[in-house]
Amino acid sequence: MDDAFGFCGAGAPDMPPGHEALGDGAPGGEPLVRFERVSKVYRMGEIEVHALREVDLDVHQGELVVILGPSGSGKTTVLNLVGGIDTPSSGRVLVGGTDITKFGDAELTAYRRDRIGFVFQFFNLIPTLTARENVELAAELVRSPRDTDEVLDAVGLGERAAHFPGELSGGEQQRVAIARALVKNPPILLCDEPTGELDHETGRKILQVIGEINRSEGRTVLLVTHNSAIASMADQVIRLRSGAVDSREENPAPTDPQELKW
Ligand code: ADP
Ligand code: MG
Repeated sequence: MDDAFGFCGAGAPDMPPGHEALGDGAPGGEPLVRFERVSKVYRMGEIEVHALREVDLDVHQGELVVILGPSGSGKTTVLNLVGGIDTPSSGRVLVGGTDITKFGDAELTAYRRDRIGFVFQFFNLIPTLTARENVELAAELVRSPRDTDEVLDAVGLGERAAHFPGELSGGEQQRVAIARALVKNPPILLCDEPTGELDHETGRKILQVIGEINRSEGRTVLLVTHNSAIASMADQVIRLRSGAVDSREENPAPTDPQELKW
């Protein structure tokens, strides 16, 4: 198996086939994602914006981590750094023990393609393609994609697969976006304000889908939100304020997303 980044690992012996590809195979051991004193400074002419200030964090294989903070606190920047979309100004971003800040363009492209699924607040679907075609397009990018229809079924969209995004509700469009991320079979799912555009009931259903992907498929999830009510579904909650980690808590008894209220 392709293990260019060294984090396929051997997998735990009791894992079902295929799950060895989902992480470093060492739950509770070395973290799957680690930030070491990560800072990000955006320079806009004379002005420096400190988006992240010496952030340390650990995310373990199979964890669902919620990153909480007000607008502008650096949440999207954290996801973009994990996703290899952006690079830090200083510090190290380790994924499966490999420092991805040392990657060149080709390695970063392969990393984003094979290891990362991204779900955005505004869905970012291609409007001229049907739900199924949006998912198929992503499937074509990778060597061993999952079955498109199976993934559409898994997010509860089997019936609406032939519809265009404009014919779908916000919640349905977000399900397509999740299916598009999942069809690549990524070990890490990054969700940036995935319920930001959805009403409460629809948002809760989307969080249930994300929770299910985490619990039953063992995929590691980083979910960013400004909505503190969502935090109780997490295994770990990281609070950001002005680009710095304000607090970090483990949650031994995460709430079922169905029970969340806001
Ligand atoms: P959040 O997602 O928590 O709202 P962001 O990570 O998007 O916060 O942004 C953190 C800070 O960095 C904000 O002050 C934002 O304006 C700034 N920032 C983000 N991206 C850029 C960029 N490309 N250029 C300049 N400043 C940026
Ligand atoms: Mg953001």
